[in-house]
Amino acid sequence: MNIVMLGAPGAGKGTIAKKLEEKYHLPHVSTGDLFRENIKNNTSLGQEAKTYMDKGALVPDTVTINMLLDRISKDDCKNGFILDGFPRNLAQADGLKDALSKKSEKIDLAILMDAKDEDIVKRLSGRRVCESCGTPYHIETLKPKVDGICDKCGGKLIQRKDDTEEVIRDRLKVYHEQTQVLIEYYDKEGILLTMNGFDSIENILSKLEKVIKL
Ligand code: AMP
Repeated sequence: MNIVMLGAPGAGKGTIAKKLEEKYHLPHVSTGDLFRENIKNNTSLGQEAKTYMDKGALVPDTVTINMLLDRISKDDCKNGFILDGFPRNLAQADGLKDALSKKSEKIDLAILMDAKDEDIVKRLSGRRVCESCGTPYHIETLKPKVDGICDKCGGKLIQRKDDTEEVIRDRLKVYHEQTQVLIEYYDKEGILLTMNGFDSIENILSKLEKVIKL
């Protein structure tokens, strides 16, 4: 099963994708995480991506689509994947669709995490992420068991550079201008499922379990 997580930055896509990854053993593929890994390893791809990411802008499509297609061609994606943060515009959605159709595959489900901008700003400015495995936490609503340490891998929790209010507002603007159209795109294909991004994780998962039959 090939799944796309849709929604604004901070709407809960990563959190739910990680839960689905654990439950259904489908790899969670986050283009943001892939870029951050490249930045950490100081690759030329990382150096290029960083100039866009620091401003909250989108990394150019050719670079992003090639990186994503390369990732989902790996063996662990053979039975499906959960995309988080991709596609982010129509060109990326079409690029993905074409590449999948060449393999007689398609996106089977698009999960929209719905949320209001003001709630997102509050959530993202309190977000902390594990610098090793990317698991997200929140300083008030999703605390780790030990302060500053990831429950899953023991990694250090950090605040992302683009989780400051100014950059969050720029990222939301980009979302409304370029990504939001994808809601209609997947709705027209009859595969859109809308979740309240501020519902409890348990409620969201139990609703999804009724739809995802693997
Ligand atoms: P995210 O972790 O999904 O919030 O992504 C962080 C940043 O990485 C974004 O603000 C963009 O600069 C870049 N990025 C991630 N995914 C994409 C994508 N599909 N297309 C273009 N840029 C992306």
